[in-house]
Order: sequence, then C-alpha cells, then structure tokens
Amino acid sequence: MLDCRDLTFHYERADPGETPAFAFSFRLAPGECLSVEGPSGCGKSTLLGLLAGFLEPEGGTLTWRGQDLLARPPWERGITTVFQEHNLFDHLPVWANLGLGLAPDLRLTADQRRRITEGLAEVGLAGLEARLPGELSGGQRQRVALLRALLRASPLLLLDEPFTGLDEATREGLWALVRRQQQAGAAVILVSHDRDDIDALADRRCRLEAGRLKPLP
Ligand code: ADP
Ligand code: MG
Repeated sequence: MLDCRDLTFHYERADPGETPAFAFSFRLAPGECLSVEGPSGCGKSTLLGLLAGFLEPEGGTLTWRGQDLLARPPWERGITTVFQEHNLFDHLPVWANLGLGLAPDLRLTADQRRRITEGLAEVGLAGLEARLPGELSGGQRQRVALLRALLRASPLLLLDEPFTGLDEATREGLWALVRRQQQAGAAVILVSHDRDDIDALADRRCRLEAGRLKPLP
C-alpha cells in the first residue's frame, strides 16, 4: 500500500491568491491505478514531485509497504516517473535510451533486446532502434520516453499527462503496457485530462482542488 498522509507543501514565491498551500492524503494499493484530474496550475505536477522526491514536503508521512519513503532520495524510492518534458539522452540512440532502464551498463541480454524491439513495435516505432533522439519528431520522442518507463518493472509508476497528442492506436499500445505493469503489482498514478485514458486505466478517480485531493465517483 502507498500511504500518503497530510503531505504539506507551499511554494515560497507563489502568488497567494492563485496558488494554495497543498495538503495531500490518499492510499493506493499495489496493482491499482488512481487518476488525478484538475485544471492547469492546480498542483498535479507538484503532487508527483513530492511523491517522487524532487520536492521536499513540510510535513506529513509517505510510506510504501510500511517503509518510509521520505527518508530516501528519489533514486531509492522505487518510483518511475514520466514527466511532461521527455528527457532522453541526446547522444545515445533509441535502443540505448531504452536499454539503460533495463541494464545500466547496457550489457543487454537477448531477452532484453527482444523486449525493446517488441516494445518499439507496440508504440509504432518499429525499426527506429538506431536513431538518435534529435532525429525523431516530438511525438516519437514522447513515445520513447514512455516506453523506457514502461519496459522495466517498477512498483510505483507516476505518469504526468503521458499520452497527450498521441493517436488512438499508439495510446492503446501504451495502455496495454501500463496494464501489464499493474498486473505485475505496480501502483500507478495517472495525471490526465483525457476521458479515454482515464476510462481505460483508472480504478479510482480523484480531482485536485484548492490544494486537496477529492475522490470522484
Ligand atoms: P499542474 O501540474 O496541475 O498544471 P503545477 O503543480 O505545475 O500544476 O503548479 C501548481 C501551482 O504552483 C501553479 O499555480 C504554479 O504556478 C505554481 N508553481 C509551480 N512551480 C512553482 C515554483 N517553482 N515556484 C512558485 N510557484 C510554482
Ligand atoms: Mg503539470
């Protein structure tokens, strides 16, 4: 269980009229997907930043299977995050960008190579293994970044408006990859405005309003 209790935060230089102080509480079971909806600027990326450890909360607790996550740096939290900016290594070809998530030294097994090839086909990028990120369109880079996050097993998956602008067929391929992670026990938080994405993936929905998460029916 991911247990987030009264995780509080405010931006130092925020406009007090527009940016509320945040206090987040929710629970999420392994294998479950929670969607977070709300207008631009309501704090969705801030919530993910606090969970992932890129922002430091002022108070509250955050545990996963009873273990304190706040005491750990981002890279020791077992969390995979796909942010809105798709950070790829520009000097590495697509296969290496994907492979780094599977084997940090890039000594990939035959099985890992096969998963990369199959994954690329699943998101409509078959045969682009050797391309550099700079030789791809924005949408293609987005798909590589998503695939990198979805190829490796991760107990906690945070997706920040991940499928914006992608066509239906590609999204269905990516939904299948997210579901596979859930079947392997991953808890998923999906920040999205898109009804189709939410209907396809969310087991529970909530809305971020005035700095709080409110359950939706
Ligand atoms: P969302 O992802 O829902 O669009 P964000 O979490 O990015 O919203 O931002 C929430 C609010 O906090 C916004 O009003 C934004 O302007 C403000 N904000 C975000 N980052 C900072 C920052 N570094 N300093 C001050 N205010 C910020
Ligand atoms: Mg955002």
